[in-house]
Amino acid sequence: MDRDLARLMTSRRKCRCCGATFAQLLSLEYDRPDMCPPDLPKLDNSALFLETGDVLTEDFCRLEDYRFIRSVMSLPLGHTEHEFVLGIWCAVSPDHFDTYADLFDEQETDELGVVPGWLSSAVPPGSEIPVAANLHMLPGDQRPELEVTDKSSPLRDLQKHGLTLVDILELLHAFGHDLPSLVHDA
Ligand SMILES: [Zn+2]
Repeated sequence: MDRDLARLMTSRRKCRCCGATFAQLLSLEYDRPDMCPPDLPKLDNSALFLETGDVLTEDFCRLEDYRFIRSVMSLPLGHTEHEFVLGIWCAVSPDHFDTYADLFDEQETDELGVVPGWLSSAVPPGSEIPVAANLHMLPGDQRPELEVTDKSSPLRDLQKHGLTLVDILELLHAFGHDLPSLVHDA
């Protein structure tokens, strides 16, 4: 696994669909929570306080009674130092959301410690959401790190034990990438 992975990580081959290398594909961002309408414009974070009603910003999303925080979920690649890093959205209670928003500008969100929530981005696309999770708040300007807690979720195992090469390729395929162009010769 490690040797095959190392070869892929340094491969210059590009995915036929998007032009990214394997290493570049290991970082992926969900633009908005899956529930959020695609036509809701993304605004600066200050809009959270300036706008009423539904709003989407870089780090926050408010939809009716739902509250989402932009977070990060890391899936280790085997036992290597590499990770598949996903920028995802996590639903939290309105109270936690408001406190997080209050602490955000001062970069003191780590005062919140660990906050229970729900992964609200389907990983891979089409899988069941929401998934019970904990958000670990981090110091400074780092986004919270999501830990899947739902024992029935395959993501929990992947997060605990790391992805095999097959897991990684299956995930990339599920996200629509062209595997043959990535792994051929690799
Ligand atoms: Zn691609």
